[in-house]
Amino acid sequence: MNAYSESRPEFDFIDWIKKQVTLRPEVKLGIGDDAAILSHQPNREWVTAIDVITEGVHFTSETPPELIGRKALAINLSDIAAMAADPVAVFLGIVLPKSCGRAYAEQLYAGIFEMANEYELSIAGGDTNSWSGPLVLNVTVMGTVEQGKAILRSGANAGDWIFVTGPLGGSLASGRHLTFEPKLKEAKILAQHFHITSMLDLSDGLASDARHIASQSGVGMIVDTQSLPIHTDVNPDLPEAERVQHAMSDGEDFELLLTVSPEEGERLLSEGIQLGVAVTKIGECTEEVGMKLQSGDALIDWPRGGWEHEV
Ligand code: ADP
Ligand code: MG
Repeated sequence: MNAYSESRPEFDFIDWIKKQVTLRPEVKLGIGDDAAILSHQPNREWVTAIDVITEGVHFTSETPPELIGRKALAINLSDIAAMAADPVAVFLGIVLPKSCGRAYAEQLYAGIFEMANEYELSIAGGDTNSWSGPLVLNVTVMGTVEQGKAILRSGANAGDWIFVTGPLGGSLASGRHLTFEPKLKEAKILAQHFHITSMLDLSDGLASDARHIASQSGVGMIVDTQSLPIHTDVNPDLPEAERVQHAMSDGEDFELLLTVSPEEGERLLSEGIQLGVAVTKIGECTEEVGMKLQSGDALIDWPRGGWEHEV
């Protein structure tokens, strides 16, 4: 606190945040002025992602604030991972409920600092509001990637193999959505050692998200239910068809979905583990557009669902 912030809790809180921030060299000017100044190496470019997270949608009024802060950064870092970029700085717009108090805000930031320190990104700015409504956070992460090396959703080719980096389903019910690690390390390994034609992070569920790669790449997809890795968070006693439905539609898995040519796919299967990334082949891209699910010898309907906000 200083003489000017004595009766000004917003600025006292911002000072408290600022004191704990470590600045990466790319952040020339961080918290404290009207805007931040960032720079990057000449052969790199910015990759920026934004997420809004809201009580009642991404967490409940019972979720511990540390986990809310942690998740707010983790979901955004997952987007940066999906582009195969390195995170640099984060900007946080927070709208606190008037009733929550300073201790709650500090706990929220404890979760934010935990993630920022773990993934070596600087809190470079934000905005602090309070209102009579529930908690809302608006998170923007800026990262960098070597020029032209970001991995897009639009590069899949017919014949490409489709992979996921981990098991799917049951994330919301188990609470895993609050504690997952964004796949930054895995994405970097994949991009460094293999020619990845397209990639995204699975936030809304495979049933919904795979469509983005298919439509933006102009291909179809056939996914084999028997090779789908189903998370142990999905009840093993459920009938198989329901377990598949959970794996494809629950959402918030934050695993990576990626495509590679069959030759690269063979190499990925034989070399991935030693390099530090375990992947499962779940299907192939097809010339004929449309999404298909194979179960044994039968082709069954692609599940509806996955999460969609109403607009
Ligand atoms: P302005 O009125 O110009 O928007 P503010 O007083 O809101 O400035 O913010 C002052 C400084 O504190 C800015 O550098 C801003 O980025 C930073 N800041 C404000 N709120 C937060 C927050 N919740 N987290 C991180 N930085 C913040
Ligand atoms: Mg402001």
